[in-house]
Amino acid sequence: MCGIVGYIGPREATEIVVGGLQRLEYRGYDSAGVAIYDPAAGLQLRRSIGKLGNLLQRIGREPTVGCLGLGHTRWATHGGVTEENAHPHRDASGSIVVIQNGIVENYLELKANMLADGHHFVSQTDTEVIAHLVGHYYQRTGSLEAAVRQAVAELRGGNALVALCIHEPDRLVAARLGNAGGVVIGLGAGETFVASDVPAILDHTRSLLFLEDHELAVITREGAQLSKLDGTPVSRQPVTMSWDPVAAARGDFKHFMQKEIHEQPRALTDVLRGRIDQDAGSVHLEDLRLDDAALRQVGRIYATACGTAWHAALVAKFMIESLARVRVEVDYASEFRYREPVLGADALLLAFTQSGETVDTLAAMEEARNQGVPSIAIVNAIGSQAARVADGGPLYLHAGPEIGVASTKAFTSMLVAAYLFALRLGQARGTLTAAQIRIALQALVELPGKAATVIERAVPVCEALAERYHRVSNALFLGRQANYPIALEGALKLKEISYIHAEGYPAGEMKHGPIALIDEDLPVICIAPRDHIYAKMLSNIEQVRARHGQVLAIGTDGDDQLAAKADRVILVPATIPLLQPVLTVIPLQIFAYAMALRRGCDVDQPRNLAKSVTVE
Ligand code: GLU
Repeated sequence: MCGIVGYIGPREATEIVVGGLQRLEYRGYDSAGVAIYDPAAGLQLRRSIGKLGNLLQRIGREPTVGCLGLGHTRWATHGGVTEENAHPHRDASGSIVVIQNGIVENYLELKANMLADGHHFVSQTDTEVIAHLVGHYYQRTGSLEAAVRQAVAELRGGNALVALCIHEPDRLVAARLGNAGGVVIGLGAGETFVASDVPAILDHTRSLLFLEDHELAVITREGAQLSKLDGTPVSRQPVTMSWDPVAAARGDFKHFMQKEIHEQPRALTDVLRGRIDQDAGSVHLEDLRLDDAALRQVGRIYATACGTAWHAALVAKFMIESLARVRVEVDYASEFRYREPVLGADALLLAFTQSGETVDTLAAMEEARNQGVPSIAIVNAIGSQAARVADGGPLYLHAGPEIGVASTKAFTSMLVAAYLFALRLGQARGTLTAAQIRIALQALVELPGKAATVIERAVPVCEALAERYHRVSNALFLGRQANYPIALEGALKLKEISYIHAEGYPAGEMKHGPIALIDEDLPVICIAPRDHIYAKMLSNIEQVRARHGQVLAIGTDGDDQLAAKADRVILVPATIPLLQPVLTVIPLQIFAYAMALRRGCDVDQPRNLAKSVTVE
């Protein structure tokens, strides 16, 4: 969610950089800063916490001059919201500055090595570690480009960054690693812009170059030289951005759903921002209004939602019961509100809603309020009704607008938000130690990169599957435990956008009914990660095979046994079992998308459906 802007050219950089940051204001942020360079005035850094207005006032009092500069709005992931933690960050010599979007997954390890080498850090951020690393390699190579290349080679996790060095005032160097943050370069006449997002520079130019994963750009007044991180040159023609804001928002993607599927690595990063402290092994959910004492009072939770969000609530039950040892009941909001629920004084309502306007979910929240029970809304839309009425506070997903009717990135973000909440509850109730939380947090920060791997692998396989299966009229999805809701979600996605009848079922229940449906024409999608129920799931797959069903399996890396049993298999990276659903659902989203596309359906606006359901 952070914003990055950089400029090199004949004009004053401050105005352009700050103007660009203002264009990204909709993203929200907690602090901002600029670094502007001028040969006479030197490197001038201005940073402030809070809204961009604070930075503007600061610059008003202490103006910056120069035609080379960069700026950043931060949404903290590592280190609290303080001026020291605001970007840009400096290297040990003070001559290099870096701004970053993303998370350095191995920053603790890198930092420890550098501390042992005598480096001194003034912030708690992972970004400062990057700046010091670039500085370290600059000492050796005397080239900013080489230094960034070598530093980035040591980073793990999705990151986008821009660096400036006062000894090379004719350039900025940008790099992109993974999918957590984009980098776009805007080409002007004798001036060049760089930003995390197109709107930041559209006022100045429409000729744009997009950096791909694992690419680096040397940005000068004349343009940009692109190469892969290993040094191989890249030649790419700039694209001219059209004026159609909807098309601009959709970028190169054919549909919003496709775009949103691909945005998941970024969304999974954004939902973590400012909420985790890996050093301390703790979770901070600032938006919640329930403190430790209030969380300790909670004796039971009602998780309520509709549609896809209801599937997120089902997964949340596994997370909360396992990590915080509080019992959870999951209800359809449309049923809950009419069944005169007996909530009890120690209850908490957890409402899941992307739009925050789903009328049944709002009614469930009202029912809770009438019974004196607080609610928390796990919600995407900022300032929506659910966010406003949740007296326990909204827990925002920060996934950005979701326009495709079939929810994708909001769903996976909900799973992570629910997991964070379960950790927070466990932390307050003392069911988890800091060491256990630290392990969970490491799994969380590795999740966006793993999601990117899943997307990359699943797209070609699902296209081939769609070619083969797009004429079927039924499909069965099977899973167990926390992956049973994922089977439901896979079936719902397929129904919603391809109009194929599909059922999700707990695999162990199949023999009590749906097994009668299985014949050689029925694709059976089996979610079978290596977890504690894996052996049982394999038996269920055998039962399908014995009846000649077509087994399409989702498993975890290295599972040759599953691959041998299935007609087709998609393997996803392993993570801790409670987070595995975040990865197993992605191939199902991509499968539904590929099927709908092959069947010529209107993916973003499927018949009869609406995005936020504000009617009963
Ligand atoms: N991880 C960095 C930080 O916490 C960057 C966050 C961002 O993308 O804004 O400062």
